[in-house]
Amino acid sequence: MIASFYPPQRTLMGPGPSDVSPRVLSAMARPTIGHLDPLFVQMMDDLKSLLQYAFQTKNTLTIPVSAPGSAGMETCFVNLIEAGETVIVCQNGVFGLRMQENIERCGGKAVMVQDEWGRACDPQKLEDALKANPDAKFVAFVHAETSTGASTDVKAMCEVAHRYDCLTIVDAVTSLAGSPLDVDDWGVDAVYSGTQKCLSCTPGLSPISFNEVALNVIKHRKTKVQSWFLDLNLVMAYWGEGVKRAYHHTAPINALYALHECLLMLKEEGLEQAWARHQTHHQALKAGLESLGLDFVVPESERLPQLNAVRIPDGVNDAQVRAMLLQDYQLEIGAGLGVMAGNVWRIGLMGYACRKDNVFKCLAALDDVLARLHAPVNHGGAIAAARAIYGK
Ligand SMILES: *Cc1c(COP(=O)(O)O)cnc(C)c1O
Repeated sequence: MIASFYPPQRTLMGPGPSDVSPRVLSAMARPTIGHLDPLFVQMMDDLKSLLQYAFQTKNTLTIPVSAPGSAGMETCFVNLIEAGETVIVCQNGVFGLRMQENIERCGGKAVMVQDEWGRACDPQKLEDALKANPDAKFVAFVHAETSTGASTDVKAMCEVAHRYDCLTIVDAVTSLAGSPLDVDDWGVDAVYSGTQKCLSCTPGLSPISFNEVALNVIKHRKTKVQSWFLDLNLVMAYWGEGVKRAYHHTAPINALYALHECLLMLKEEGLEQAWARHQTHHQALKAGLESLGLDFVVPESERLPQLNAVRIPDGVNDAQVRAMLLQDYQLEIGAGLGVMAGNVWRIGLMGYACRKDNVFKCLAALDDVLARLHAPVNHGGAIAAARAIYGK
């Protein structure tokens, strides 16, 4: 007999999904109404304005795509790029590789600029690539590389790209609401994010925002967007201005209630306060992890507060530690991805999960598990080291 599924209450401190607030979960359980119901359409307008706040943009094309972050990525590429066009991708981890895959499937040419995994993308390397590829039309890169925990200077990269008349496509899946992001001020032309990282919403939606320049590119395409579902010319008939909305696909109604609620929580907290909270708890977690003797992958000046990648000590079995944390502490941390698989742990401090009690829980759990495995780390000081940061 198959019974109802009741998941356990875990603490999610990996690379996403992050813990979802009970307030957001209960918003999801509210009655489903029609996706063209006038009250629902009003809610959509509020949602757009809350998203504009989160992205720090006035872009009218600021909406959630009805699918996870990967679909936001695909929305950017399939709408903007036509066959034969050149895109420069600055790649410093797993997600830049996916950009390449998207571009090539659009018939575009991806010029890859490699940066070291664990480092930010280098604006100078971008400039060199732009000089060598005068036909380039777009520049794409990841703001917060979740595979390594490195943060790239979006403003500097966009400034270089614009000097060479290129539009910028930025992955802000992990950065949105976790570390400073200012879409308008930094000159980002097209951006996509996800709901399951620092927004702490349920997975499955992807906020995007396009400025006027990017919107014009879409409106004046020579060929149809290859994806019917993600074609923004069509999607905007539903999400666009005014009261008249045309059916495109049935919106994920209850998931949008959840997004509305978590964005409202972000507005109530204040965006700057949310960024500061991620930084505070990161500093405390960092003090604790360093007290254990764990080394960070990313140099301090390029580190994300919401994704802490640390090297696994010699002789310690990655999977065993994560299994013990899950079993004994209901705590999930992330494994390494790509070339870092087996060598690093990725400890997330995202959104609702980014709290003092979780920092203490994670440090206590790691200390205990590593002690039981006789790992070569310093035991007993991690909590005090974190507490000292909060005490400051
Ligand atoms: C998680 C993530 C994605 C993909 O988001 P999904 O919701 O898993 O589809 C894309 N880019 C980055 C940087 C991410 O961290």
